[in-house]
Amino acid sequence: MADRPTLKPWIEAIHAYVPGKSKAADGRPLVKLSANENPLGCSPKVIETLAGGHEPNLYPDPDATQLREAIGALHGIDPARIVCGTGSGECLHGAVQAFAGPGDEVLFSLYSFSLYPLLAHKVGAEVVLAEDADYAPDVDNMLAAVTGRTRVVLLDNPNNPIGTFLPRAEVERLHAGLPKDVLLVVDQAYAEFLPEGEDDGGMDLAARHDNVLVTRTFAKAYGIAGERVGWATGAPHLIDALNRLRGAFNVTASGQRAALAALSDQDFVAKSRDANAAARARFVDQIAALGNHGLRALPSEANFVLVVFEGDLAATTALDAIAEAGYAVRHLPRQGLPQALRVTVGTPEQMDAIAAVLRDLCGVSA
Ligand SMILES: *Cc1c(COP(=O)(O)O)cnc(C)c1O
Repeated sequence: MADRPTLKPWIEAIHAYVPGKSKAADGRPLVKLSANENPLGCSPKVIETLAGGHEPNLYPDPDATQLREAIGALHGIDPARIVCGTGSGECLHGAVQAFAGPGDEVLFSLYSFSLYPLLAHKVGAEVVLAEDADYAPDVDNMLAAVTGRTRVVLLDNPNNPIGTFLPRAEVERLHAGLPKDVLLVVDQAYAEFLPEGEDDGGMDLAARHDNVLVTRTFAKAYGIAGERVGWATGAPHLIDALNRLRGAFNVTASGQRAALAALSDQDFVAKSRDANAAARARFVDQIAALGNHGLRALPSEANFVLVVFEGDLAATTALDAIAEAGYAVRHLPRQGLPQALRVTVGTPEQMDAIAAVLRDLCGVSA
């Protein structure tokens, strides 16, 4: 007999989620461009709502009814086909937990959201990684990696940490190539940053098919990451599965109120999208100017840019110099990206400061 409780082997294999850093090695606080948070903060309506009176002694609405109705109204979805989560992370957990277990495979592209392996390992399922195409998810490679044991396919679109976007036709082709009993999860955490009118079609697939779930979050463009609110939509049997698995009072009262207020201010979302696109374009141009030093910004439709270091300058050297200048960006060696840094799009001034550090390291004057 063991002298203490024994972890299940698949739990033993889990690496806890590694959050973005906000401090230097010596404890100095850094400007956090490592967690894809919104540099504009959130809507003033959220601040107002949260400052208002509330009753912390009362349980929240367990079904987030008002919030689901507001989400449904905005997106043209029947609220019965929506479930809210403690962040979209909880919905992603539920999707994997409901349909995969020991002996099953959970498939995603080699470079995907760092939470995904954890979701599979938690339920004892195996992770299968599809080959990338210049870092980005590739539909042919994903379909080629499907086996008889594939139960769930996870697609973050735009992708994190790469930032690339698979257009509607490609997402439709991925879905069309999957067996009907494989769940496709389209994780649209960054969808609000897409140019107006651009859409990967995930919601339409989720409305029409029994095997598609779309997840969204209030953490990114809505700017309320700390309130932990996300949601998923799909066929009633999928929503039912997630409802069984989620926490009973999973979205806090303040989370529900904050999300409602955030939803009501679409001007803030548009402002976030436009500011992000402008600061991102400017930063990408500055990186492009360092192309002959081996730096490359991968095409991004999200609120971050992955800079790949393919020349003499190492990503780790850049990481240290950026920290020295007061900024935390994301280095992802555990995700197989020792040669890259993911930089959250902050204010134009912050992005200029990062670009200036990189120019300095390359010996280029502005
Ligand atoms: C940030 C992010 C989320 C959001 O997670 P929450 O639990 O809603 O905070 C989901 N998917 C991806 C790919 C992300 O990058």
